[in-house]
Order: sequence, then structure tokens, then C-alpha cells
Amino acid sequence: MKKIVIALGGNALQSGNVATAEGQLETVKATCEYVAEIMERDYEVAIVHGNGPQIGRILLASETAKDVTPVMPFDVCGAMSQGYIGYHIQQSMLQSLKKRGKSRPVVSLVTQVVVDKNDPSFQNPTKPIGVFYTKEEADALAAEKGYTMKEDAGRGWRRVVASPLPQRINEIDTIKYLLTGNTVLITCGGGGIPVVEGANGLEGVAAVIDKDFSAEKLAEEIDADVLMILTEVEKAAINFGKPNQENLGEITVVDAEKYIAEGHFAAGSMLPKVQAAVKFAKTGKKAIITSLDKAIVALEGKTGTVIGG
Ligand code: ADP
Ligand code: MG
Repeated sequence: MKKIVIALGGNALQSGNVATAEGQLETVKATCEYVAEIMERDYEVAIVHGNGPQIGRILLASETAKDVTPVMPFDVCGAMSQGYIGYHIQQSMLQSLKKRGKSRPVVSLVTQVVVDKNDPSFQNPTKPIGVFYTKEEADALAAEKGYTMKEDAGRGWRRVVASPLPQRINEIDTIKYLLTGNTVLITCGGGGIPVVEGANGLEGVAAVIDKDFSAEKLAEEIDADVLMILTEVEKAAINFGKPNQENLGEITVVDAEKYIAEGHFAAGSMLPKVQAAVKFAKTGKKAIITSLDKAIVALEGKTGTVIGG
């Protein structure tokens, strides 16, 4: 049996602007059909998923209801998002497996990912989260709660948090244990709940860990054969969105690093995927960036952006 880490992007969880739980379940069901098809090809799977829109809505709901019930801290919103997204994936995976005459345990694990307190991103938080505020409200929040507030493209003030790199997956031993038990595992959702080492153990922090980096870390840790990052596009491209756009097929680590240096991949979207793919390829394994509907064909080596292997 080969091992694969599949990182699911936003479009694998919610298509269009359907933000309802029912809409998400619908999309996740379709996504899990692809994952089940991958499993049919003799792969053990660990699933990582994004949570950007979901955590945003949980926070929005909480902040909007602040006069009725206390606002949830951001790390708790992350835990909540892992719970309900994981739940949808669990239910859908069981269905897709059953359809194929398979019965396997499917579990999602609330996962804490340790980040470095001294990660440079904490000095300059850039990731906007939650609702918009007026300048006065923003100043009050900064004074009262110590939030970093920034003006967001003329639309108002927003809280920004750091986007540190994952250092360690706290539940890694449990993850390895579950995978040897034939479990289909959903872990590191939303990149994991960011925590730092405190005097008395782990403490949640308000930050966003990129799920592509956490998926890469996971893939290394469990010695996966393939890291598959599924997103909206079939291939990463150079000169993206320009008339001379060129989609990338099989590329070397050296090529990929050159394209990164030339600035071809947008920060916060394609860049972390290519960086994660390069890091994994350097361990001698294969990383694939492609779209959900091309996952199988890409696994057969016929499409996608492929680095290493
Ligand atoms: P996900 O939710 O899967 O993480 P993102 O929106 O974060 O998805 O990243 C994927 C998006 O990155 C693509 O849909 C595309 O619009 C954008 N993108 C930016 N730069 C590139 C590039 N060089 N090649 C391909 N896509 C790119
Ligand atoms: Mg993303």
C-alpha cells in the first residue's frame, strides 16, 4: 500500500458561494467520491482541508452575537471549523466507501500544530480575519484586547493575524498509530490549530497556518509517497493570467525554485502550494498540484504540475 496526503482546497468543500452547512455537505460528498477513487488505487489516505471561509463565518457569527454570548477566541473558531468540516468529510467518506463495498474507520482528529513564538510573521501580521470596523472601534479593540488592526483596501479596519510556519504536529504519534490501523484520517484541518509552547504546555494563539505547509509536514512525518494538493486549477502556471501564460507539467525542483524567485506564484494562494511541493520533492518523493476532477489522471502521471518523484 502506498501512502498519500491529500490537501483539499476551498473549492473541494464549498462550491460557488454556497455558505450553508447543507451546501458544504453536498460539495464534500462529491469530493469524497474522488478520494474514494484514489483509495481504490491502493492508497492509504490522510486528508487535510482548508478552512478560510468557514473560520471567517464562525468568527463573524460570534462577533455579531457578542451582546448575547461571549466572543469565541480565534483558536477556538479553528477547532470548531475542524469539527464541522471533519464531520462532513467523515460522513461522506463512509458513504463513498460503502458504495464501493468497503468498510473502514473514518476519523477526524482535532489537531494542534506548534508554531514558533519567535516566528517573524508575529512581528508583522498580514492575514485579515473577521469583520470590518471603523477607525474608532479598531483603536478601541487594539487598546482593549491587544489586537493588531490594519486598514483593508479602503473598506475599513480589520484585525490581522500572523501566518507562521508549522514546526511540529502535536498529535503526530496518534496520527501514525491511527494510520497503521487502516483508518482514513482527517487531520491538520485548516493547517491545524496554532499553538505555542507555554510554561505549562501548549497554548492556543490567534494565527493562521497555511494548510499546504501543514500537509507537507504531515506527508514528511508519515513518510507518504505522494503529496497531492487539490485546488481550483489543473496546473500551476508561470505568467499566470497573462497572454503568455504557460501551464507547468513535470518540473524539477530547480525550475520550481527559479519560478518562485521570479515571482510567478501569488502569495497566500499558489505560492505556498509550490513551496510545499518543492519541500516535499526534496525528500525524494512526488508532489502533485492539480484540480479535484483531475486527481486520478494526475496520479497516473498524465496531468497536473508534478515536482519530484
Ligand atoms: P485553495 O483554496 O485550494 O488553497 P487558493 O485560492 O488559495 O486555493 O489558491 C489557488 C488559486 O491560486 C488558483 O485558483 C489561482 O487563481 C491562483 N493562482 C495564483 N497564482 C497562480 C499561478 N501562478 N498558477 C496557477 N494559479 C495561480
Ligand atoms: Mg489557499
